[in-house]
Amino acid sequence: MQNELDCRGDGSVDDALLPSMSPDERPDKPEEACGVFAVLAAGQPVANLTYFGLYALQHRGQESAGIAVFDGEARVRMHKDMGLVSQVFDQSVLERLIGDLAIGHNRYSTTGSSRVCNAQPVLLMTRLGPLALAHNGNLVNAAELRQSLLEHADHFTSTTDSELIAFAIQQEVNRGLDWDSAIRAAAARCRGAFSLVIGTPEGLFALRDGHGIRPLVFGHLGESFQGQWVVSSETCGLDIIGAGFDGDVEPGELIHFRPGAAVPERSRWCQQPPKLCVFEMIYFARPDSRFFGESLYSYRVRIGEALAREMPVEADLVIGVPDSGIPAAIGYSQSTGIPFADGLIKNRYVGRTFIQPTQAMREAGIRVKLNPLPDVLAGKRVVVIDDSIVRGTTSRKLVAALRDAGATEVHMRISSPAVTHPCFYGIDTDTQDQLIAARLTLAEISAHLGVDSLAYLSKQGMVEAAQAPSSQFCTACFDGAYPIEMDDSVRSSKLMLEPSGLAATVTER
Ligand code: SF4
Repeated sequence: MQNELDCRGDGSVDDALLPSMSPDERPDKPEEACGVFAVLAAGQPVANLTYFGLYALQHRGQESAGIAVFDGEARVRMHKDMGLVSQVFDQSVLERLIGDLAIGHNRYSTTGSSRVCNAQPVLLMTRLGPLALAHNGNLVNAAELRQSLLEHADHFTSTTDSELIAFAIQQEVNRGLDWDSAIRAAAARCRGAFSLVIGTPEGLFALRDGHGIRPLVFGHLGESFQGQWVVSSETCGLDIIGAGFDGDVEPGELIHFRPGAAVPERSRWCQQPPKLCVFEMIYFARPDSRFFGESLYSYRVRIGEALAREMPVEADLVIGVPDSGIPAAIGYSQSTGIPFADGLIKNRYVGRTFIQPTQAMREAGIRVKLNPLPDVLAGKRVVVIDDSIVRGTTSRKLVAALRDAGATEVHMRISSPAVTHPCFYGIDTDTQDQLIAARLTLAEISAHLGVDSLAYLSKQGMVEAAQAPSSQFCTACFDGAYPIEMDDSVRSSKLMLEPSGLAATVTER
């Protein structure tokens, strides 16, 4: 049996580093960690399907992309590189990725810097053959896990916690366990958020951490592909390749999809209360992805309606900040009767590697991402709906642009509570000292943004709109109630201020 590990992640990193950005240039939104996608379709080529799946999940990570493909004879071919899915892969690359089990990944860095050696999948050799792993989430015990794997330190090729999970599985396999037992044993050594897809010579495994903080769903390919399986971070990854939705990989669940088997083997590896990241619902996941049986578009319209009930204001026009603020703006408009309009046009082709304008260009008024429509806004009292405020830098510029376009009043309404705490579970929300709501009172934020009024949705309104038990959500970035214990060293890396106790109220300027 030949084991071919054909990997382009060769550590040639320096010129692959993204341009460093000043705090003012960094995206003023929480940044998603990663998207994972996998296909097992015995006897069928799957690289192209995986490409499309990753393309649908592009919003979950734009720094790097990778696909590892098993050819059924324990050979794995992998291609990964920095850039968008459409930049990393072309047809000639996909044609070389021959096989019927594929593991795919889109990355945004939360642990480990943005460079090609940290791109995924992670590919390792074990006693039982190769292992390819893709991870969405973040471990809070990475230092401890790394310590327990020091015998492998010479083989670490990245600075990611995802590689540590793969090494833990390799270690358990090499101790004599079978794949199923080794994956369970390795998962038990991890603490934090981890939605995993794992390729092995015995098929595809999908696993979620005990709280199910990051989403993971599975489905099947169409009728001509009976018994052939797809696993995706979100249902939009199933939709794009015409796969049917079968269900969530449940929190604490391990699913083993064996080649050719009509039914997957489902089991619990751990029992903990579910704590899905509520920010997935508000902002991260695509609006056409389905959670709790409905699209997030519907949920986001409902939080706009709740926001209108809680925080009404007299105005002539409701606009949303594209794209994620639009459904809530429609809900706000429907609930209040204030007309909705497109007041801001977004350039959708600005990626993370886009060359940033200089400070002089910004001062001269260059608007790369959003441009207001004066014809719509002039002479109007405008309610502008956004999904969140993190540092406030973008919101401040936006308010100025709306006034420049002729808006006579600008009332900002946020369809989530104030972000006062950083995330340690796979979302980049900056350190606490950079979160504007952790530093300033509501009145101070209003003055900083230059709005006539500012109000946030309450936590109750946010979780009630989900029509699922509120206990099922992680809401830690709004209330500091972290569901997973962390060492002080992990907390101190981001948690630098005490909670400000900012209430979801309205302030007038
Ligand atoms: S802390 Fe916030 S962003 Fe992080 S998992 Fe919890 S709700 Fe999501």
